[in-house]
Amino acid sequence: MDIQDRLRDLRNQIEYHNKKYFEQNAPEISDYEYDTLLRELEDLEREYPELRTPASPTQHVGEATQGAAGKAVKHDVPMLSLEDKFSRDEVAEWIYKMQKDLDDPSFVVEHKIDGVSVALRYREGKFVQGMTRGDGINYGDDITENLKMIDTVPLKISVKLPYLEVRGEVYMSNEVFEAVNERQEELGEKTFANPRNCTAGTIRMLDPNVVAERNLSILIFNLQAVQGKDFTSHVETLEWLVKQGFQVPKFYKCTTEQQIWEAITQIGESRGDIPYNIDGAVIKVDDLNDRERIGATSKVPKWAIAYKYPPEEKHTKVLNIEVNVGRTGRLTPLAILQPVKLAGTTVARASLHNQDQIDRLDVRIGDTVVVRKAAEIIPEIVSVVPAARPENSEPFIIPDKCPVCGAPAARETLTNRTGSSIRCTNSTCPAQLARLIEHFASRNAMDIEGLGPAVISKLMTNGYIKDLADIYYLKNYRDELIDKAIMGKPHSKKSDTKKSTDKLLNAIEDSKKRSMERLINGFGIPNVGKFSGRVLEDYFPDIWAMTKLSFTEFKEVKKAEEEKGTENLKGLGDIIFKSLVDFFQRPETNEVLQRLEAAGVNMKSTKTTSEVLDTSLQGATFVLTGTLPMLTREEASQLIQAHGGRVTDSVSKNTTYLVAGDKAGSKLQKAQNLGVTILTEADLQAMLQSE
Ligand SMILES: [Zn+2]
Repeated sequence: MDIQDRLRDLRNQIEYHNKKYFEQNAPEISDYEYDTLLRELEDLEREYPELRTPASPTQHVGEATQGAAGKAVKHDVPMLSLEDKFSRDEVAEWIYKMQKDLDDPSFVVEHKIDGVSVALRYREGKFVQGMTRGDGINYGDDITENLKMIDTVPLKISVKLPYLEVRGEVYMSNEVFEAVNERQEELGEKTFANPRNCTAGTIRMLDPNVVAERNLSILIFNLQAVQGKDFTSHVETLEWLVKQGFQVPKFYKCTTEQQIWEAITQIGESRGDIPYNIDGAVIKVDDLNDRERIGATSKVPKWAIAYKYPPEEKHTKVLNIEVNVGRTGRLTPLAILQPVKLAGTTVARASLHNQDQIDRLDVRIGDTVVVRKAAEIIPEIVSVVPAARPENSEPFIIPDKCPVCGAPAARETLTNRTGSSIRCTNSTCPAQLARLIEHFASRNAMDIEGLGPAVISKLMTNGYIKDLADIYYLKNYRDELIDKAIMGKPHSKKSDTKKSTDKLLNAIEDSKKRSMERLINGFGIPNVGKFSGRVLEDYFPDIWAMTKLSFTEFKEVKKAEEEKGTENLKGLGDIIFKSLVDFFQRPETNEVLQRLEAAGVNMKSTKTTSEVLDTSLQGATFVLTGTLPMLTREEASQLIQAHGGRVTDSVSKNTTYLVAGDKAGSKLQKAQNLGVTILTEADLQAMLQSE
């Protein structure tokens, strides 16, 4: 790959992960992996400074202000991030540089807490404002009211200085985090991936009461600005802050490289024993005048660095290997582990994905294994410790029978990049139905809140659900469901059970009007997800229009669209058509569809059923380009469709008219070359009126 391509690739990846992390609180890779990407980009830009651009993620701090909780506030002192170091050599190099530039500097090594960075402002000893880091340089979000809900944020301090600004890290202890997630699960709400995500989500909430419930804490790690008092060293500020009622992170005073490395190692080894997550150690120059002298770049101070630990790995034992059945009947092996604390949460299971993975690791029941969290979220087995293998252990082979219904399991002939899979061959397997309903009710499909695994399992064992459509007939059994406490906790009061039952039944009623795209996704047809659902909804007026087509007919329809030069059904191919036909041709599918429709579930597309006023434009194919003077493109399309015309995206010899507005580009050119009639918006309007 050439340098330019690699740079572009790295920048795109980093921007993508910035978005996931800072804006959506949903990171997909670990901080360590992220830092490695950023690092590679920085190194390349250093090597090829001419290829550096102002928009590169190395040139700004990343986080965008979100404004969910409050208005943007201007920073007095920039909230910079730190330059990361990944090895002892890199740390030592920095220390030597400091020792060369300064006279006998001393250093402080601290925990780098994995939380959300904030600044607190005090006037005359009173807490007056708190803000997030935001872009780090100019603006952050005002989160004063939320910060007031944190017990460890002192609202008043005894020494009434005219002004004081401190910086700290808001975090959630691992214990609190587990309790919050348990509660989320009970409420049927989304759980958080890790304490930091939970903290980031919480600190921006609009309701300070929720913040109070979530039990956040804060550790103050830097004095940003002060009026009315002089300090000479960082340690002095920390000690003074403690006297004012602030909590500060544990710190080590060091002078030599040896001492610094020992402190880093010690912090690393204590990771499992401290109540919060740390993602590194911070090494700072202690003397404040020295800091001034060393200065900062636009992005990072030069007087401090962060050492990043590699992902935490632990040894534990494989107690058992269970085989679960997924919604498509796929058998997935799951390692049941002796519970172990890892990056803040207890890990007791790890997916082994498939037989290939088991074979590759040669993992067996009774083995001692090395586990870690991929992306700091998903536990995975890295390797087996061969020396600790018990005698007469045997290789694990996924059984050739479904563990739930006992039907034969068959190895898939199709293999994909995730390896070969083994499936239960029984289409009425209860395990498959349970997973299917979970999927049907999930956020991306019909979004039925409260219809989770536990409730589904109870509904199935009590005989209320035998297929998908049964969900919409549950309301006929409301009283029975309440009596049997299907939706309640075993010991809840009857009034609570009534409430949760009605809540679920209402959520089910509500889901009837979901889009056709969601319904298609909800069916859980192999290879047919959200994307295909959308493309299908764009083309077919209702579900029934798809059920009538054979594989060959699907292909013919697609071919005809391609020949017409439309974008219809774009992205769908033989595999998807085959899956659709397999699904729609099953007699039980037809029955389920009939009953879903009878229950009032929406089966129609909202895209292709706009009301037709007349057929004056029938047979004409339009393409729109440029900016029209009066109508938006959407409005113009609707207008054309309402008169029976078709609108497509690209110009071909089958295009009847091109409606061109301002700044029309290549489409206009192409239409002219093909001799397509060009219309203005006024021409189009006139055409409709003269009919
Ligand atoms: Zn089965």
